[in-house]
Amino acid sequence: MKILANPFVRQWEDTHSDVVSAVERVGQSGWYILGPEVGQFESDLATYAGVQHGIGCASGLDALEIGLRALGVKAGDRVLTTPLSAFATTLAVMRAGATPVFVDVDPSGLLDLDQAEAYFSAHADTRFCLPVHLFGHCLDLERLEAMRDRYELNVVEDCAQAIGAEWKGRRATSVGQVSGTSFYPTKNLGALGDGGAMLTNQGDLAEVGRSMRDYGQTTKYEHVRYGMNSRLDELHAAVMRTSTLPRLAGWTERRRTIARRYQSGLDHPDVRVVPKPVGSESVWHLFPVLVTAERRDGFMAHLTAAGVQAGIHYPKLIPEQGALEGYGNFHVEGALPMARRFAREEVSLPASPYLRDDEIDAVIAAVNAWKP
Ligand SMILES: *Cc1c(COP(=O)(O)O)cnc(C)c1O
Repeated sequence: MKILANPFVRQWEDTHSDVVSAVERVGQSGWYILGPEVGQFESDLATYAGVQHGIGCASGLDALEIGLRALGVKAGDRVLTTPLSAFATTLAVMRAGATPVFVDVDPSGLLDLDQAEAYFSAHADTRFCLPVHLFGHCLDLERLEAMRDRYELNVVEDCAQAIGAEWKGRRATSVGQVSGTSFYPTKNLGALGDGGAMLTNQGDLAEVGRSMRDYGQTTKYEHVRYGMNSRLDELHAAVMRTSTLPRLAGWTERRRTIARRYQSGLDHPDVRVVPKPVGSESVWHLFPVLVTAERRDGFMAHLTAAGVQAGIHYPKLIPEQGALEGYGNFHVEGALPMARRFAREEVSLPASPYLRDDEIDAVIAAVNAWKP
């Protein structure tokens, strides 16, 4: 038995006829770039995420960069963010020419808002914050909002792993002037390729984002700003609009059921379930656990031998990547002990909605049977 982290072929079998009709629809329409499918998908996605405007982009990375630039970030501006995330979070800051500032994470692995607050209070000239709703957990939105207002921050929420996540009934995306999400195939809402979206409640920012993803033009051949080509394909929009987005609520429910199954079934003294933030209604992009650093290789080998494909998110902190050294402009606040701990100890268990109960039970049995 092989329990994959992402059994894509099962998703393909389930969505096959909807995907094929979406492809037929676009092929027949004769309109392949920024047509009606992108427009309708953006609107459906915005509704799902709880915002006014969605702007389809070529990737999550681009959505974050466009969001930062739409908010006016410029070279030398500091952007406070987390050292523990997909590298793209920080790459967006670098591509916008700004200076990432890293503070430590909290015991859930998400940006530590106490430390973020301390930084903003000591550096009144820092006006940008790029927090990540990591693992599908939602950061404390009340605190984030209070911090935004108190320090007059421009906030871009990285929702690449957290589409639909909530904090006490409030949706992730509700604090940032802009949010970004990704349709990379492993994400909760994946495409059959790359894609992403910028999300916002502000019409003016939506307009800038739409223009920026399309060569900076406002109308045909009228280029008013420094843009890029980061359009979401009509084909991908069509596929997501009628095959994956309509399934997302069901998939999220399934991820929550899997997380509950793990929470009640895992009982190995050396495997600690990472606590979710208390008010978070998580969407469980991943199911993270911690094992002590010197035993992690053995734990991973044990899972592999049991046919379980586990992951590590993330083995190397962002400020320690070679690309940062080459870039030069960044700051690290303190020794980042908690982020370091995640980098050494974290293991992600399979959480795909396409995994069956017997497979989740097999993962639980494998974990519980581990002899360190
Ligand atoms: C996947 C991911 C991104 C980047 O998205 P792409 O579509 O791969 O560019 C950014 N941030 C986080 C937290 C992610 O998980």
